Amino acid sequence: MPKRGIADRVAATESTEVPTDDASAADLRRQLQVARSRLHTQQVRQRAILENLAHGLSLYDRQGRLVLCNQQFLDIYRLPPALGRRGTTFRRILEARVAGNTHVGADGQTYVADRLGAVSEHRPLGGIHRLNSGQVISMTHQPMADGGWVSTHKDVTELFNMQAELTHLAYHDPLTGLPNRTLFYQRVNRAFDTIGDGGPFAVLCLDLDGFKPINDTLGHATGDALLRQFAGRIARVLGPDDTTARMGGDEFAVLHAGGDEASARALAARIAEASHAPFDFDGEVVSVSVGIGIACAPTDGGDIDELLHSADLALYAAKREKRGGIRAYEHEMDRAIEARRRTEHDLRRAFENGEFELFYQPILNLRTQAFSGFEALIRWRHPERGLISPAEFIPVAEEMGLIVGIGEWAFREAFAEAARWPAELRVAVNVSSIQLRRGNLVAAVMNALAASGLAHGRAEIEITESVFLEQSEQSLQTLRQLRALGVRIALDDFGTGYSALSYLLAFPFDKIKIDGAFVRALSDAQHAQAIVAAVADIGAKMQMATTAEGIETAEQLRSVHLAGYTEAQGYLIARPMPREQVRRLLNAAYDTMPSDPLEDAQRAVG
Ligand code: C2E
Ligand code: MG
Ligand code: MG
Repeated sequence: MPKRGIADRVAATESTEVPTDDASAADLRRQLQVARSRLHTQQVRQRAILENLAHGLSLYDRQGRLVLCNQQFLDIYRLPPALGRRGTTFRRILEARVAGNTHVGADGQTYVADRLGAVSEHRPLGGIHRLNSGQVISMTHQPMADGGWVSTHKDVTELFNMQAELTHLAYHDPLTGLPNRTLFYQRVNRAFDTIGDGGPFAVLCLDLDGFKPINDTLGHATGDALLRQFAGRIARVLGPDDTTARMGGDEFAVLHAGGDEASARALAARIAEASHAPFDFDGEVVSVSVGIGIACAPTDGGDIDELLHSADLALYAAKREKRGGIRAYEHEMDRAIEARRRTEHDLRRAFENGEFELFYQPILNLRTQAFSGFEALIRWRHPERGLISPAEFIPVAEEMGLIVGIGEWAFREAFAEAARWPAELRVAVNVSSIQLRRGNLVAAVMNALAASGLAHGRAEIEITESVFLEQSEQSLQTLRQLRALGVRIALDDFGTGYSALSYLLAFPFDKIKIDGAFVRALSDAQHAQAIVAAVADIGAKMQMATTAEGIETAEQLRSVHLAGYTEAQGYLIARPMPREQVRRLLNAAYDTMPSDPLEDAQRAVG
């Protein structure tokens, strides 16, 4: 009879009533119960651990037979429960997985080969593989000392997608979905790397004209929608190898792979064409045009920064020419545009830094031989470049819209200064058409007058004919208002514009200033004399003062005096001068002896 094991003995004792005569048997039974329950607890715990693992796990022995696996493992690879039984061979499980086509394409074959290799060489393995279901699995294969191995299988789909999304975010513009600056740089750098094999390529810099006002007036939602639609339109005209990116704001860039200047120009024309059609936002129709600058590699730039800089300069030139312009980079652009850019940059600071000054040029009354007043002429005292003439920076300030603020400052400064002068002297301030259109000119003039205490009749503003070229009824209305308030209005540079005579009918000017060019032509052109004389006559008939500008010689002064001009202004009489010099001159003229310029002028006239 075989020896009875403890369990049998316990079982035997269990079937009877508790043996009171056998203390050791009870002891044994208790020990066994404890051991059993421990084992059970351990198994339960093990299972619990196994089944509650966040990932699938399978354990094999040295013969490649399954020792255990959890449900997650079976689920991930959609394996039937039968295969999860102890003893199933690794090979069978692999075959089932491949047959079930759970691995994507060729990935499956590679996976099987890799795993079998790891088993036979007894080495660890790890990696990511994709399943047909779209799941992404991270697997580890770890050999164990007993010759078997354990493998873990973790579903990292969410993490993976998140990472992919993060990567996408890092390289794309969230508004338009286009590649962003970072990705654009990568692609252009790659194009530079392969320039030998890929041939030349071009970059295009794009900038929407008129985007800002749309954004400002119709709101950011419309602005965003416009940018999205615009991005879509560019994408449709690109070649398959081209990349378009949003560089920020309303700036876009295109990498035109394998294209020379001619093909880049053709692409630019297609983009311009595509952007021409109006954009419709729920009945709100807006039109934009796009400025495009082209630079070709490697001729216009040896690296990305140089190349983009060149394209940017070309864009800048294109936009300055006209709306919707297209320009390819030329070497001459560098210097001219750099200078202009610097002016723009410095101009922004100039105002805050108080770098502007007014100079004053006296105007001589030819009847009384006394000064009737001064014209205020702005100067920019640049910290490095010295005094800069308004001819150079006023057009830039106009384009930048800075002229409105500068103009307001000029009124305040000029009126305050004139308020210190003798009461019969006027001050004239130049006003550009942009100020008339954009700024609230009436308020600016009136505020400056009020602040200075200057009598309205001592203030004059000079406008040029460009005000009329824009045919703005609103500008004329502003001028009428100012004149009704007692401010004098002068027409400056008369004769340099188109159909100048008709302007005299459009507005009742107080004064006409004939341009210095006619004065200069006096000595050698007969018809210049005729024109100069005619303007004096018109002024007299229409009861307007007439000023001859640019008087440099005594001869010219005599001629305009004879022709009947009421006033003269020019270097002969005095150059524009700083306010301190005006103060000295006026002190001398009014308190003690006559000043040099006045004397000179009187001598010249007499
Ligand atoms: P403008 O109003 O026709 O001013 C006359 C210009 O002729 C001034 O040039 C003056 O310095 C110059 N000039 C005066 N006498 C002579 C002369 O005998 N010979 C020659 N060759 N030139 C003479 P500046 O000061 O360079 O100003 C140029 C233009 O800039 C002005 O032409 C005016 O249109 C504009 N400007 C000046 N100051 C302001 C300002 O505060 N605001 C605005 N919007 N424009 C201004
Ligand atoms: Mg003037
Ligand atoms: Mg003038």
